[in-house]
This record gives sequence, structure tokens and C-alpha cells, in this order.
Amino acid sequence: MSCIFCRIIAGQAPAEVLYRDDRTIAFRDIHPVAPVHVLIVPIQHFDSLNSLSEEDEALAGHLLVVARRLAEELGVARSGYRLVINTGSEGGQTVFHLHLHLLAGRRMPFAGD
Ligand code: 5GP
Ligand code: ZN
Repeated sequence: MSCIFCRIIAGQAPAEVLYRDDRTIAFRDIHPVAPVHVLIVPIQHFDSLNSLSEEDEALAGHLLVVARRLAEELGVARSGYRLVINTGSEGGQTVFHLHLHLLAGRRMPFAGD
């Protein structure tokens, strides 16, 4: 299995897992760029947001709800947080298994920076 996130999901690579259900896993980013930096990842492998279709709308919504719950549990819901989905090389994507970044704990710059 070549995908690092699929290996984490399969328990074949280590990660600091904060949450897991039948559709989703969330674990801390190995190179955090903020005091809170969690990746919210569908269990099913999608290369990127480009691979998501109408049938996946419930899953897409679920990822957002999981992110919101994690923000509350991590104590940043009120102070604020940012969700990021990098898509494709110019979008900054480096791991080609769809994921949301949950970033918090410091003031974020303008979204386009
Ligand atoms: P992307 O650049 O694709 O939006 O985000 C990929 C993220 O995955 C990066 O922030 C990177 O630090 C993180 N990452 C890459 N490999 C691993 C790993 O093996 N374990 C964990 N926990 N995070 C990883
Ligand atoms: Zn994968």
C-alpha cells in the first residue's frame, strides 16, 4: 500500500489518532504549522477533492461535522480555527489522499497567503 494515509488507517504506520469512526479518522499532523494541527481524513481513499462526487455529499458533510466537534474538544471552537483543503500541486497538496487541515492556536494570516 503506497498511500501513507491508507497505511495509517490500516494501522501499518503510526499516528497520534484523536478520533475514528467508520468513515473518518483524525490524527495530528507530523509537521504542525500551528499549535493545533489535525488532519481529518476519510477512510475511503480519494486522491483529492477532485475525486469527490454527488454520491459523496454525506461523507463531505460528515468530515465538516467531525472537524467542528474536534475544534470543540480541543478547546478552539470559540477562539477560532481554520479548515483547509489543499487540492492539486498548485493548491499545495502533497499527500494525495483527501484530507482537511484543522488549524488553530495562533492568528491565521489572510487566506490567500
Ligand atoms: P497537504 O500538503 O497534502 O495538504 O498536507 C499533507 C500533510 O500531511 C502535511 O501537513 C504533512 O505534514 C502531513 N503528513 C505527511 N506525512 C505524514 C505522516 O506520515 N503522518 C502524519 N501524521 N502527517 C503526515
Ligand atoms: Zn489513501
